[in-house]
Amino acid sequence: MAAHDPVEQKYVYDFAEGNKDLKDLLGGKGANLAEMTNLGLPVPPGFTITTEACKAYLTTGREPDGLAAQIEAHLESLEREMGRRLGDPDDPLLVSVRSGAKFSMPGMMETVLNVGLNDRSVIGLSNQAGGNDRFAWDSYRRLIQMFGKTVCEVPGEEFEHALDEIKSAKGTHNDLDLDADDLRGLVDAYKKIFAKHTGREFPQEPREQLDLAIRAVFDSWNAERAILYRRQERIPADLGTAVNVVTMVFGNLGPDSGTGVAFTRDPGSGAQGIYGDYLANAQGEDVVAGIRNTVPLQELEQLDKTSYDQLLGIMARLEEHYKDLCDIEFTIERGKLWMLQTRVGKRTAAAAFVIAGQLVDEGLIDLDEALHRVNGAQLAQLMFPRFQLDHEFEAVAKGIGASPGAASGKVVFTSARAVELAAEGESVILVRRETNPDDLNGMIAAQGILTSRGGKTSHAAVVARGMGKTCVSGADELDVNVPAKRFTVGDHVVNEGDVVSIDGTTGKVYLGEVPVMPSEVVQYFEGELDPENTDDALVRSVHRIMTHADAARRLRVRTNADTGADAARARRFGAEGIGLCRTEHMFLGDRRELVERLILASGDKEREDALAALLPLQRADFIEIFREMDGLPVTVRLIDPPLHEFLPPLEQLAVNVAVAQERGEDVAKEEALLAAVRRMHEENPMLGLRGVRLGLVIPGLFAMQVRAIAEAAVAVVRDGGTACPEIMVPLVGAVQELETVRTEAERIIAEVVGDSGVEVLIGTMIEVPRAALTAGQIAEAAEFFSFGTNDLTQMGWGFSRDDVEGAFFWRYLELGIFGISPFESIDTDGVGRLVRIAAEEGRAARPGLKLGVCGEHGGDPDSVHFFHEVGLDYVSCSPFRVPVARLEAGRAAITTTGSDSR
Ligand code: ADP
Ligand code: MG
Ligand code: MG
Repeated sequence: MAAHDPVEQKYVYDFAEGNKDLKDLLGGKGANLAEMTNLGLPVPPGFTITTEACKAYLTTGREPDGLAAQIEAHLESLEREMGRRLGDPDDPLLVSVRSGAKFSMPGMMETVLNVGLNDRSVIGLSNQAGGNDRFAWDSYRRLIQMFGKTVCEVPGEEFEHALDEIKSAKGTHNDLDLDADDLRGLVDAYKKIFAKHTGREFPQEPREQLDLAIRAVFDSWNAERAILYRRQERIPADLGTAVNVVTMVFGNLGPDSGTGVAFTRDPGSGAQGIYGDYLANAQGEDVVAGIRNTVPLQELEQLDKTSYDQLLGIMARLEEHYKDLCDIEFTIERGKLWMLQTRVGKRTAAAAFVIAGQLVDEGLIDLDEALHRVNGAQLAQLMFPRFQLDHEFEAVAKGIGASPGAASGKVVFTSARAVELAAEGESVILVRRETNPDDLNGMIAAQGILTSRGGKTSHAAVVARGMGKTCVSGADELDVNVPAKRFTVGDHVVNEGDVVSIDGTTGKVYLGEVPVMPSEVVQYFEGELDPENTDDALVRSVHRIMTHADAARRLRVRTNADTGADAARARRFGAEGIGLCRTEHMFLGDRRELVERLILASGDKEREDALAALLPLQRADFIEIFREMDGLPVTVRLIDPPLHEFLPPLEQLAVNVAVAQERGEDVAKEEALLAAVRRMHEENPMLGLRGVRLGLVIPGLFAMQVRAIAEAAVAVVRDGGTACPEIMVPLVGAVQELETVRTEAERIIAEVVGDSGVEVLIGTMIEVPRAALTAGQIAEAAEFFSFGTNDLTQMGWGFSRDDVEGAFFWRYLELGIFGISPFESIDTDGVGRLVRIAAEEGRAARPGLKLGVCGEHGGDPDSVHFFHEVGLDYVSCSPFRVPVARLEAGRAAITTTGSDSR
């Protein structure tokens, strides 16, 4: 097809032709190299082959038409510019071939340096460098090693091994002690390794080297580890990578040369300063490979003041230009500084907030942009307690931070042992190679979960996140031996009962118990830290950005709280009311007995007595909550759960009765109870007698609750407070259900409220799909809707949450059937559609209908954006999620031109 196109597609861009906004086409590295070139910074000349070329290659299996010729043309002009030809025997031009996708995928793809060297041009290179043989042979052996490994899949260890052998023959650990002869010998050894594994000689033709390296970069997009990484980071699979061909500059020319990395601010804390590492007489990857000890960047000032000052100048310039933390790679070739890469740097959650605040102070960005640059997931991370790490503690392994938090405990290897020890009051860490659904009880009992295999979507990770439990997965340095009840890591052997500590944010594993310290961000939300008067930069910045989010957001944020204490905490965290007060727990504990009497009542009298006894207890509960939420709306949901939850388990009861009968005891009461439990047994309690159904079946139950609510409100108002109760009817599927409850409730409210001025709204949950689909009718009888997205998800998908999460969700995630559990983040296409329909039809039937959401989705960042967009009035979530929801509601409300923040 392309061959017939009148204008051939442009696949190759000179650095001077690109810019930073072309990441889709040129990849991040290429776009930023172009940007730096156009800023006039010292970037070695080169060109970028587009992601389009890569995509064409990956779909057809061959380079697209025209690509070879375009590369040829760009190479020629590069050769003209440099006055050298690629691999020329006397005066070679050498290049690097570097991958670079739109989103940075550290260490996932390939780079080959020194392309163009061969048996002849190595001599030319030496002459170019004034007879520096050592340098030339060092560069050549690096090419064979990198080319062998990344282009031809020669096992890297073989090269490492050969290098180690030469070093130990010389009696040294330092590669700088190897001289030109040693390195020449190493080249021979490398070539043999290459030939042994590939069945061919190392290619001597420079252009062939270049083409093979380009192709290898294309192929690396689909390497297994790259695929896994993308899945974990949710990077689309079809973006492809660009390839950058860059003139080589040399940091390995002697002590006046070197290479380094730098950050314009500390990516860990956000603090301003000079952060980086420098390594003299070394080439690119040596810095990160830890081959020799790097020195802190500051020391470059002594080594080469001119380059150092120039570098600082460039870093300041880049920050000002990108208006963000930049991450830089550079090389110094005989006193001349070259910039090899820059990008907006990754950072920790704390640094994200601190830096955003600083950039506002510096006038580089405004508060909208600062708000755009942080997110709820980062804020949530900052609200977990953290390990208090000093030098004593060094991580023994690092896995994937699969579910945040800090946990210490005794190591156990089986679910059963975890349950046992937890029952004795011990903190335990469940250690497995990988978990499976049989481990569920152990995971519940454990403080944290540690696995040696599996990524962010493994069973362990998914289930732990669902439970809010700390988890480190895929710590592959751990050798876990379950039958022997121990694991080994490095030289350490850890047996059952030994204590370890895991950090679910960083993925780090420590031996022993690391002390935990509270989050200063939580202290701030609790009002224990004055943001105007602290030297904690994080707290100051969080405060500023939260204040801006509150001013910007349209969505209100309420909390789910059933007790005065929860309500009070949520209020400190910024909740503007209660969106869901569950009344179920008010029937438990020592009130259970009253409920049993209510359920088993043989006549009106008995039932009424039980209800009369419950009324004052309920009233007291509501008074406490209304007081804590003085002046703010409180949505009280009438009793929802299935009745059997209040009764003893059937099997146990049956056994008790049988045993008692055997002994000839009087069991009349137990028998009645057993009969009732049998009668009420349900196969699918979640779909059975619960919610409004219960209220319609047991006379007086809802009436008692409505009376308690109204009386509590009147009592609070009489005391000078302001109570704004909203009565919410659960599990409504048809307007008639709601109307029946409403008629009786209105009568009671009118009677109780009298002229006290108390106003009580009556509304309903929308959590049964039928309710969403008949929302227009239901709105006739409801003053508000609150979406119960947990049940709506269960019934929308036909999933029983308790059963499916542990059983197969991990597999669904692995297969990509969902990107994230629909219980964690709302399924906007399906369940979200139900919300949209109900919101539209409800409001059409009753303008001004109040709309909220009270499922756990109310505190999930992505879901909050969806609820904003659908036009709800508020979200409600657990107290700890309230700040997250406030932040995300603010982010949803602002529109910025800000860049992709990944
Ligand atoms: P990564 O994306 O893994 O960082 P890079 O393509 O940036 O891979 O290259 C790896 C190393 O090689 C880096 O340290 C880089 O600075 C260095 N490097 C790349 N190209 C050149 C070049 N043309 N001259 C000198 N060093 C280079
Ligand atoms: Mg790099
Ligand atoms: Mg529900």
